[in-house]
Amino acid sequence: DTDTGAGSHDPTSLRTPIVAVLGHVDHGKTSLLDKIRGSAVIEGEAGAITQHIGATAVPLDVVSSIAGDLVNPDDFDLPGLLFIDTPGHHSFTTLRSRGGALADIAILVVDVNDGFQPQTLEALDILKRSQTPFIVAANKIDTVPGWNANEDSPINATYEAQSDRVSSRLDESLYEIIGNLSDEDFSADLYWRVQNFQRNVGVVPVSAMTGEGVPDLLAVMMGLSQRYMKEEMEIDVQGPGVGTVLEVKEEKGFGTTIDIVLYDGTIKADDQIVVGGMNQPIVTDVRALLQPRPLAEIRTESRFEKVDEISAASGIKVAAPELADAMAGAPVRVVRNRELDEVVDEVEAELADIAVDTEEQG
Ligand code: GDP
Repeated sequence: DTDTGAGSHDPTSLRTPIVAVLGHVDHGKTSLLDKIRGSAVIEGEAGAITQHIGATAVPLDVVSSIAGDLVNPDDFDLPGLLFIDTPGHHSFTTLRSRGGALADIAILVVDVNDGFQPQTLEALDILKRSQTPFIVAANKIDTVPGWNANEDSPINATYEAQSDRVSSRLDESLYEIIGNLSDEDFSADLYWRVQNFQRNVGVVPVSAMTGEGVPDLLAVMMGLSQRYMKEEMEIDVQGPGVGTVLEVKEEKGFGTTIDIVLYDGTIKADDQIVVGGMNQPIVTDVRALLQPRPLAEIRTESRFEKVDEISAASGIKVAAPELADAMAGAPVRVVRNRELDEVVDEVEAELADIAVDTEEQG
């Protein structure tokens, strides 16, 4: 037995679940992410890093301060939620991890007035095929005529502040969405009636505009992850990092860089990595790991600051030579203490999987 270290040092730890947002165009995916990001910045302590590259981290204590009574941090040992910043189907299907979707969990956004639309159905189909657990955010509840808005309020409290006419009007729209889900073979209900989120899809009424229901949305995501996904979140956090390329980008002063989402292990600023390329795996050495610099400091310096290492789950920019042929959606693996050939083989196998899937989807 060679002592390659895998599993022989640090104990496993729990990583953040990765969350994707899907839904029909204009139903509010971007607005919802903006709202969550905005609330996280307000509730987060000064200096807490919420902005990753290509993703937004909402740590458990921030989830809890946004969600108030709905989330008691003592009930959780998952560290929070990591939202992928690029919503939409293309990004969801491109971003994969070994054998499945990169996202562990998804939010399907449906406009309460507009209801199910072609891309809603498409999203359901994608979620079904990838077997990704999801909840439905029934968005734009503030547009129900006569709505009395209560900024950032949990849904229960804002429901009570509506007239009977207004709340029954919302109920009608919500039940229509529940009916549409059932037509697609998803048994669904309002989230507070759902006992088992593995069997039933929870529908959460929200407004990305006023923030109403956002506490509930975060609480449900957190609860669902904690209850049903804990085992999948167990990683060897000190192990060699594994991730997926979000984007390949030219960056002034750094040349071609890759933005990656790391879903396992750690990547260090002096690691050798293997990246999926257009023709073959690229073997290269990390030159710098870059995070966005806090807003206050941006004026004087580069947009990025260098970090020595980062662990999953996180979004990070990697500067390294030879990245011109790297592809969005391709795997990235840290070599560290392992045979290079083995790691290259792993990346090749993953690339072959991606090619097959792309053909199947036409
Ligand atoms: P996306 O295409 O799904 O990302 O949708 P956007 O987030 O761009 O939203 C489309 C439009 O709907 C924008 O004009 C938003 O301001 C508006 N919108 C999104 N969410 C809400 C909401 O909860 N309430 C209201 N009144 N408008 C919203």
